[in-house]
Amino acid sequence: MFIEIEDLKPEPLHVHHTYGIGEIRFSHDDAALSRPVTADFVLTHKDGELQVGGTVETAIRCTCSRCARDFTRDVSATFDLSYLPQPEWTSENAEIELRYEDMEVGYYDGITFDVDLMVLEQIELAIPMRFVCREDCKGLCYKCGADLNEGTCQCKAEEVDSRLSVLLEFKKKSGR
Ligand SMILES: [Zn+2]
Ligand SMILES: [Zn+2]
Repeated sequence: MFIEIEDLKPEPLHVHHTYGIGEIRFSHDDAALSRPVTADFVLTHKDGELQVGGTVETAIRCTCSRCARDFTRDVSATFDLSYLPQPEWTSENAEIELRYEDMEVGYYDGITFDVDLMVLEQIELAIPMRFVCREDCKGLCYKCGADLNEGTCQCKAEEVDSRLSVLLEFKKKSGR
């Protein structure tokens, strides 16, 4: 969805839009959108400068990086952003760039605002770097691949056994 700035009325524009799953180009190795994306925001503008504030909500189906189990989690982003017309690159506005560095400021071409891109960025910012199904996920056994959330595997038991037999051996030798 694109918003043409010259078509905007002076008053704030309220946008409520739902994207079908395939409409947002979210591409990730181990995650996919699992619910339509709802964008709800108000856009105000003054002299080409845009203020965009609202929410983006969806859900993703992703793979736990520890136990490889698939799970679904809600994604919800609240944002309040400013967009400025992309300045021409000169040495003077290098300073402007720096001044805005710490603020939530983006740029657009001054003519058309790309809503899809903003929505995608908000989803990307709201998801973690690594997906973990739950904070205390124990992951898989590095030896046999068993899911340790479902109990200890044979390897753990064997490790204990071998430690125990070393101990028994030691006891035998020392004659105690
Ligand atoms: Zn997990
Ligand atoms: Zn194991």
